[in-house]
Amino acid sequence: MNHILIVEDELKLARLQVDYLQNAGFDTDFLSNGLEVFPWLKVNHTDLILLDLMLPGRDGLDICRELRRFSTVPIIMITARIEEIDRLLGLELGADDYICKPFSPREMVARVKAVLRRQQVPTIEAGARAVKLDHNSFRVLAGEQDIELTTVEFQLLQALYQQPGRIFSRSKLMDLIYPDQRIVSDRTIDSHIKKLRKKLTDLLPDQELIHSVYGAGYRYDPQDRVVD
Ligand code: CA
Repeated sequence: MNHILIVEDELKLARLQVDYLQNAGFDTDFLSNGLEVFPWLKVNHTDLILLDLMLPGRDGLDICRELRRFSTVPIIMITARIEEIDRLLGLELGADDYICKPFSPREMVARVKAVLRRQQVPTIEAGARAVKLDHNSFRVLAGEQDIELTTVEFQLLQALYQQPGRIFSRSKLMDLIYPDQRIVSDRTIDSHIKKLRKKLTDLLPDQELIHSVYGAGYRYDPQDRVVD
C-alpha cells in the first residue's frame, strides 16, 4: 500500500484529501505546520508528498527545495493561485506536479496515481520511446511510418521529448522557441501543440504522447495513460 503525506494547514481541505486518498486505497498521514515535515520524515517513510505552498512555520517552496537536496520522493505542490504555477516552474524546484486550488479531489487522486506510475518507470529508455526524432529532416518516426513537422512543432516536441515527464510551462516553451521576442501569446503555443498532437495522433492513433497539465503546461510521456 502506498503512503501519502499531506501537508496542508486548511483542516477541512486536509480532511477531504485524507478521505479521498484513503478511499482510493492509500495510507495517509497529515501535517499542518511546515516545521513538522523534516522531523516527521526522519522517522517515517512516505511514497509521495502533497505539499501546500502557503504553510505556517515553513513554506512549501522552502521545504521542496531542501527536500530535493537529499530525496527524490515525489512531490505534488498545491497552490491557491494559477499564476503562481508559472513562477514555481521557473524556479525549477524539482516538484513532480502542481495542482491549483480549488481542485476536485478526484483529479487530485488521479494526479497522485499518475505521478506514482511515472515514478515506477523513472527513466524511459531510448528503445521504449514511442517515437524517434530526425533532427535533419524535422521528421518524427514511429516504426516504418513518419511524419513531417514544421520547425516550431519540431522544436516543441524536441524540448518535451528530451525530458520525459517534466512539465514545461507555456512561457518556458515560448522562451525556448522564441528566445528573442515575447510578442507571441500563450495561445500561439497552444495552437502549435494542438497541431503537433494531431500529427502525432495520425502517426500513433492509440498513444497519447503530449499531455496537458491543467493550469501548468505540457509534458511528454509515452507511458502515461489517463485512467480513472
Ligand atoms: Ca495553506
